[in-house]
Amino acid sequence: MMRRKFVAGNWKMNGNLAALAELDAIGASLEATVDVAIAVPATLIHPAAARAKFPIGAEDVHGQDSGAHTGDVSVPMVKEAGANFSIVGHSERRQGHGETDADVKAKAEACRRHGLDAILCVGETLEQRSAGEAEAVVTAQVLASLPDGAGGDWLAIAYEPIWAIGTGQVATVADVEAMHAAIRAALVKALGEETGQAIRLLYGGSVTAENAPGLLHAAEVDGALVGGASLTAAKFVPIIRAAIA
Ligand code: PEP
Repeated sequence: MMRRKFVAGNWKMNGNLAALAELDAIGASLEATVDVAIAVPATLIHPAAARAKFPIGAEDVHGQDSGAHTGDVSVPMVKEAGANFSIVGHSERRQGHGETDADVKAKAEACRRHGLDAILCVGETLEQRSAGEAEAVVTAQVLASLPDGAGGDWLAIAYEPIWAIGTGQVATVADVEAMHAAIRAALVKALGEETGQAIRLLYGGSVTAENAPGLLHAAEVDGALVGGASLTAAKFVPIIRAAIA
């Protein structure tokens, strides 16, 4: 199945109003065959969405629409601010904020209820990889986090080995291909051939202009989730270019 390439950025807890100028240069370098989107801190969603020529998203959302959840933001809130999508289950949320697969599933389902796309992140620790458990851990995470109504029209899955995020240590193309094949097989088994094949699988973890060409054209790799290299147009645009079919 032909899936459009998708290059998504994640600014994490970086950026300010002045940094939004980067969005102009990125918007001027879009490619017709590549989907581009950037998740920004909640405070920047509104100005970023007003300015960018491509979808802007949230980095996290709560699973409920409103209530006593001090410090959280809901899908209706980020949607009103202009977000088209949200990342859910990033390892920095799973590890730093104790989010479970059930939380991540609820967040993704909240996105669907309100018409937002979601990028659902999964990934193993170095200890789990060293113990030979990576594929079992990651496919179990996928299945336990998978929202009801999962479909390629709104959901992408990002495989992000935790040891590769922000470390400069990139997974090998062979490791990424093996993991993506395992995730694809799990999706097809759970959702059937058509839906299981339609969901895009992104790789994330120290993607740069240098390693993007190899990773983005590996088997079953439909795009990338890019942290550090999404902060400037100078680093991000070459990754978009590398995704051209
Ligand atoms: C990420 O934020 O999801 C990520 C992969 O970060 P980096 O590209 O900086 O490793």
